[in-house]
This record gives sequence, C-alpha cells and structure tokens, in this order.
Amino acid sequence: MTDIIIIGAGTAGLSATIYARRAGREALILEALSYGGQIVNTPEVENYPGIKHISGFDFATGLYEQATELGAKIVFAKATGITVNPDGSKTVHTASEDYNCKAVIIATGAKNRPLGLDREEELTGSGVSYCATCDGAFYKKQPVAVNGGGNTAVEDAAFLANYCSKVYVIHRRDSFRADEAEVAKLKAKDNVEFVLNSTITRLIGEDELEGVEVTDKISGESKILEVSGLFVAIGQMPDNNSFSSVVKLDEKGYITAGEDCLTETEGIFTAGDCRTKSVRQLTTAAADGAVAALAASAYCG
Ligand SMILES: Cc1cc2nc3c(=O)[nH]c(=O)nc-3n(C[C@H](O)[C@H](O)[C@H](O)COP(=O)(O)OP(=O)(O)OC[C@H]3O[C@@H](n4cnc5c(N)ncnc54)[C@H](O)[C@@H]3O)c2cc1C
Repeated sequence: MTDIIIIGAGTAGLSATIYARRAGREALILEALSYGGQIVNTPEVENYPGIKHISGFDFATGLYEQATELGAKIVFAKATGITVNPDGSKTVHTASEDYNCKAVIIATGAKNRPLGLDREEELTGSGVSYCATCDGAFYKKQPVAVNGGGNTAVEDAAFLANYCSKVYVIHRRDSFRADEAEVAKLKAKDNVEFVLNSTITRLIGEDELEGVEVTDKISGESKILEVSGLFVAIGQMPDNNSFSSVVKLDEKGYITAGEDCLTETEGIFTAGDCRTKSVRQLTTAAADGAVAALAASAYCG
C-alpha cells in the first residue's frame, strides 16, 4: 500500500510528487509514455517565473530528477482505471498490474488537437505551435497564421498581431464561435487578414515551416500563404474517460474539482491541464500539483 499514486509525470504530476515526498509521503508515479509531458516538445520556455530561459526538455528533466532524487518511484505504464475499495483505499489499474494506495492524484494533462496533416509532428517546434502565449515571441516581425474559430484562436491572433508583421486567421467557417466583441477588435487591426471558409491542406517547408496551403471550401481553390509560424488553436483533447466512474467530467471531458483539487470522490485529487480551468500553463500545473499533494498528504492522515 503506497500513500499516494500520481497518474502522469508531466509538470503537475512531478510537482505533486516533489511536494508529497517533502511532506514525508510515499509516492508512486504511473506514466504512460516518457516523463515530462507536453512541455518536452517546446524548444524554449521563457515564461516560468525565476527561470529566464530553458528548453522544455531541460525543464522537465530538472523536475524529474528533483522528484526521483527525493525518493519517488516511477513505473512506465498507462493507468486504465481506479477502483475505490470498501475501506476507502484505492486501486489503480494498468494493463499488467494493479497498485494500491490511500490517495490518488490524476495529472493526465491534455493533448492539443492536431490538424492531422502530413509532417505536422515533425514541424512541431519548427514553425508549428499549439501555444501562442508560449511560442509567439519567437516570431517577432514575421508573418504567421492562426487556425481556429474559437476564443483561443481569436485571442492568439490578437496577441500575435502585437508583434508579428502579419497574422492570417484561417477558419473553416465564415463566422466565429469566439466572442463577437473580440472578433470585432481583431478585425480592426491592420495586420490581420481573415481567410474564411478555408482549411489548411498542406504544410510547406523542409526543416522549418515556410508556408501553408489553404483550400477554399466553397470554390475548391488553393493558395499558399508564406508564414514562418502556424498556431493551431482547434481545441484540446483530455483523456479522462477511464476515470469517469470515480470523478466528474465536464462536457469537454475535463475533471471538475474545487480549489483544493479534490474531485467528487474523497481521496482522489486532480492537478494540471486535465482539470477544468481557464489557464493551462506550467505555472498553473505546478501550483495545482503542490495544492493537490498537500491535500492528498493531509487525507492520508
Ligand atoms: C508545444 C507546447 C509549448 C508549450 N510552451 C509552454 C510555455 O512556454 N510555457 C508554459 O507555461 N506552458 C507551455 N505549454 C503548456 C504546458 O506544457 C502545459 O500547461 C503543461 O505541460 C501541463 O502540465 P500537466 O502535467 O498538467 O500535463 P502534461 O504536460 O500533458 O502531462 C501529462 C502526463 O500524463 C501522462 N498521462 C496521460 N494519461 C495517462 C494515463 N492514463 N496513465 C499514465 N500517464 C498518463 C502523459 O503521457 C503526460 O506525460 C506548452 C504546451 C505545448 C504543447
């Protein structure tokens, strides 16, 4: 019986582990892939307070080493479900083994929804990005495109228009899901051009993105937009369905929890991008990890 099982070795899970270990708790991390989570995909992080400049990989490695040097154990396996036992303890299931614990922290993150285009993965970090707040500054005075029609896409485009030479907003419809007022503000900007009823059909460039091919859904005509950055903002995908019998999911599949990161089940906490929240960043993931771990430690008694 471990004190706390942490599902996911991203920023939230590793931060939770550090706090759990420093609170004197045994901590076992279950990670489906490799440590680090989403941030390992970005070459530079420049907005984590106290660290001016670091690669995503170095950031994640620092967290991982800090957690494991404090004595946390990690098993590379995907958690496939949680059972609450009659005595209140929990069993976390994987394909090969079951693990018992007093408390669980679910920190499974969220994946950005990809466009599904050829070479998209290869060009991620070399022109293709899913986070304007994180990577926008690398495209100062350069032309970029944003793909999407919701609030994130419109906010990203407005943010990028402040320092990029040109921002194309590519959207598959002719109207936006985003707030009317925000769309109107965006339309007033001189360096923003809307490319509506259009989808991106090809990414252009060998080692770095050099442009995107867009196809008009009505006329069927294609054209090339020369851009050095493409910001994909077509939503995120949480993957929490395996835990839906013990936690409540919102309509998008994120786990709902209070300020203390407690879910609707006693002893099951959640942290980071996998929970319902408005800002999904490293700082908020780390903060959730700390809060969830201290609450889980208190629950362990
Ligand atoms: C390209 C990119 C650049 C970014 N740049 C920045 C930046 O510069 N600054 C910033 O603040 N934020 C940035 N972000 C956002 C930041 O990465 C996230 O907010 C942060 O990673 C969230 O951490 P997390 O631990 O909640 O989730 P994640 O990082 O997604 O980690 C979740 C982990 O859980 C694992 N997992 C999932 N399901 C299971 C399961 N069932 N069993 C076991 N393991 C599981 C995953 O494999 C993953 O390792 C960026 C995001 C991207 C994609």
